[in-house]
Amino acid sequence: MSVYLINPSDVSFGIGVITPRWLYVLASATPREYGEPLLIDETLERFDPSVIQARDVVGIGIHTGNARRGYAIGTAARARGAYVVFGGIHATLYPEEAYERGGAHAVVTGDGDRAWPLVLRDCDAGSPQAVYEGGRIGGDVFLPGRWSLVPRGRYMWASVQTVRGCPKHCSFCSVWRTDGQQPRQRHAHAVVEEIVDLRRRGFRFIVLADDNFYPVTLEDLRMAARRQDPARLQELTAIRAERFALMAALERLPPDTVFFTQITMEAAEDHEFLEAMRRAHIRGALVGVESVTPEGLKDVYKNFNESGERLVERLQDFRQHGVHVLGSFIFGLPSDRPETFDACAAVADRSGVSFAQFVMLQPLPGTLDFAAWEKSLGENVPRVDGVPLTRYWLVPPASRPKVYIEHPVMTADEVRRRTQQVWDRFYSLTNIWKRSRGVVRSVRGRLAFVLISKIYRQMYANTGIATDSARVNRATRWARVMAIPCRTLFAGRPMPDLQLTPVPAGLLQIEKAIRR
Ligand code: SF4
Repeated sequence: MSVYLINPSDVSFGIGVITPRWLYVLASATPREYGEPLLIDETLERFDPSVIQARDVVGIGIHTGNARRGYAIGTAARARGAYVVFGGIHATLYPEEAYERGGAHAVVTGDGDRAWPLVLRDCDAGSPQAVYEGGRIGGDVFLPGRWSLVPRGRYMWASVQTVRGCPKHCSFCSVWRTDGQQPRQRHAHAVVEEIVDLRRRGFRFIVLADDNFYPVTLEDLRMAARRQDPARLQELTAIRAERFALMAALERLPPDTVFFTQITMEAAEDHEFLEAMRRAHIRGALVGVESVTPEGLKDVYKNFNESGERLVERLQDFRQHGVHVLGSFIFGLPSDRPETFDACAAVADRSGVSFAQFVMLQPLPGTLDFAAWEKSLGENVPRVDGVPLTRYWLVPPASRPKVYIEHPVMTADEVRRRTQQVWDRFYSLTNIWKRSRGVVRSVRGRLAFVLISKIYRQMYANTGIATDSARVNRATRWARVMAIPCRTLFAGRPMPDLQLTPVPAGLLQIEKAIRR
């Protein structure tokens, strides 16, 4: 019996930007008695299911974007007599689809770390259950990735997780509903151990693939301090102290280590936190700006963000503390107007963000926006190729419509056109070159910044919002060619002799005390 773990994708680039962490975590969760699992990442190259044999176990992890391809692989694997198991966010939200369309014997909902060995045991015995409820496991039992299985030279960034869950409740995001609002943090030494393993293998650039690296804000602490009962304040203080303990441990890694994470804008007012990030080699962060107007922020339940001039200052704060920002903006919010696009482009230019992404508001399964959109369509849901629009991810990619929430004053085409213009403006050669001066000093570094900016734009702007398939195909081909030289910019020197610097006893004591 062979164990396959498959990350499906309709598009393969030959080189991956970030290691798909779940493959390596489930590889760790695979008991040694079942042999080495075979890890297949279709973002590298397409998988041929004809190699699958009867009684093999095929685990397929899906999100909405790759669900249909996952179902095709699952169906082919089942036809070859394998046990087919689905997991991931989309399978958690729509388990019935995996049985109906993907040939699933079983679906794992929630976290797979603990459930996967049970799945394998039951498949080996010939009797898998229909559902395994993985639930939300504690941070102290998150597994590290089994990085000995990562192919050499195929990825730009490795990925490590330090915390799951996000206390916010943004309307366009499913994270807080699937991973929960209670932060679940890993022990600092477990995180560092995994990072040392990656550095020994030549990864220097590592994404801290967290839902929200800053789960407790100063405002949360102020509000908790006003309560009569001190319990909440103690709980939040402990979570915050644990973040600092982690960052102190990361500080001890080789100085050329580069981390990137995801964080809310509120961290900008917390200079102590930003300084700790800088010392911990966290050089960049995706910050969800979403909208530059207070009305837009209200639209998405993100009133905790700043708008206008305060927003520009907040974003500059990150930069002043050595944290480069990838700003994420959303267009098509109900309060957006044609002039919003220019205002947003101006903020992106002035605020010193190093990179930016401009996405159109889409109803994504598992979000509040999706639920409201689905309800608004009522009984008469339009169909495309026989598929109801509310299940748009099941339409073949060639005819799949881009689905957007209807806007009160602009057509989807207008929002798309204006969004594309903002991408074009932000990533014009002149603007990238101007921005590069604030990011790196050497000409070589600036040229590398231009290359990375251009490839980022091709991978995300042209393939993400373009509707014209010729443009998408061109962008994919271009990204495929450029990905190879781009990867060499991220390649690190393997450090096989790197030793784990012990976490100071004081820190371990703090961590133990916090967890008690
Ligand atoms: S968008 Fe970010 S801050 Fe909002 S709920 Fe999702 S992870 Fe949390």
